Amino acid sequence: MSSESERLFAEASRVIPGGVNSPVRSWRAVGGHPLFVARGDGPYVYDADGRRYVDFVASWGPLVLGHAAPVVVEAIGRQAALGTTFGAPTALEVELAAMLVEALPSVEQVRLVSSGTEATMSALRLARAATGRDRVLKFVGCYHGHVDALLVRAGSGALTLGVPDSPGVPKGVADLTVLVDFNDFDGTRAAIRRHAADLAAVIVEPVPGNMGVVPPEAGFLEMLREETARAGTLLVFDEVITGFRVAWAGAQGRFGITPDLTCLGKIVGGGMPLAAFGGRRDLMSMIAPAGPVYQAGTLSGNPVSVAAGIATLRALRSGDAYERLDRLGTLAERRLRAVLDETTTPGTVNRVGSMLTLFLGVTAVHSYADAVRADTARFGRYFHGMLAEGIYLPPSQFEAMFVSLAHEDEHVEQLAQAAQRVLAHP
Ligand code: PMP
Repeated sequence: MSSESERLFAEASRVIPGGVNSPVRSWRAVGGHPLFVARGDGPYVYDADGRRYVDFVASWGPLVLGHAAPVVVEAIGRQAALGTTFGAPTALEVELAAMLVEALPSVEQVRLVSSGTEATMSALRLARAATGRDRVLKFVGCYHGHVDALLVRAGSGALTLGVPDSPGVPKGVADLTVLVDFNDFDGTRAAIRRHAADLAAVIVEPVPGNMGVVPPEAGFLEMLREETARAGTLLVFDEVITGFRVAWAGAQGRFGITPDLTCLGKIVGGGMPLAAFGGRRDLMSMIAPAGPVYQAGTLSGNPVSVAAGIATLRALRSGDAYERLDRLGTLAERRLRAVLDETTTPGTVNRVGSMLTLFLGVTAVHSYADAVRADTARFGRYFHGMLAEGIYLPPSQFEAMFVSLAHEDEHVEQLAQAAQRVLAHP
């Protein structure tokens, strides 16, 4: 079979490492070659060969309004015509910052950056500066961008101290990262207490999406808040996925927890490169030029990105956006569970709001250890079967799929009926 996507991938592989600009796009987890996307429209993407798919990737989260939402396209065009970047303050960025501060009570001040990686990297620097401590604690299976100190997970046997996930991360940096398991109350409490004297921050995806969706168990985030407060350690919520996704006030609003610092990305940029970190005023006022903690960016607060972000947040603020997202998410979960039953496929669905994961081969996923027991070979076959049915899913078992405001019940029904046909033939 030869397709335009295949041809493009061969050409891309000559000039781009692995043919992609971000590894998970290469489909290594499911096999085959990636689709090259030509365009998107509402709930659909079209590949380079002109085939149409119902999209549940949503560019990995940002596209809560679907592709090329008219309000976003219009805002981008309007701003682009006025200039794309100035490297000087603009009224628009004040408006977006004020919206973020209004939406998230824990965020008194916010700094706009260009990627989620930059947001978490900067939040960690600030946490270290504010506490005068060096260590950070993260959860195995949580992803916070490719920041050196966060590109670490437990190797077998290395239960509490970090080993780098990638060559190029200095061991000395990885050694400062303490690793624990998400939803492990005792292990987490013990690690925070053990390292308290030198622990600057606990960073967490309040609803992990990067090991597939794993909801926090009741009381887990509350425990993190209590233990970090006691240890004088800052609690950093990485809401790059969950911010404006699981509620207007993010996971912190949905679960009623007040972190010290918050990282945002994806939805806040409305599909353009934009992210942010913010939190308590006494902490944020340490950021340069208000304070000594250096942080900067040529394209930070880029006016075109900010315009797209504002248009997206306005659409989310008006009407019943989150009721609708929850309703669609609930429908997707219910229909996929029914398909698992009807096809007697071992599996389960984890969901918070409009982010969900269908795990195959495991019947309950509460932790990273549960997630990695999933049948990834079966998932690969499911992924390709769904693609042939015109459904575009994240190309890995360990990712979240998203429903958006561009989806209708009929698209969720198409998803379920495709899954029914695909899973009936394991
Ligand atoms: N934090 C989380 C929770 C993420 O999911 C991601 C990216 N998927 C990041 C941080 C990094 O964001 P970016 O890819 O924009 O650097």
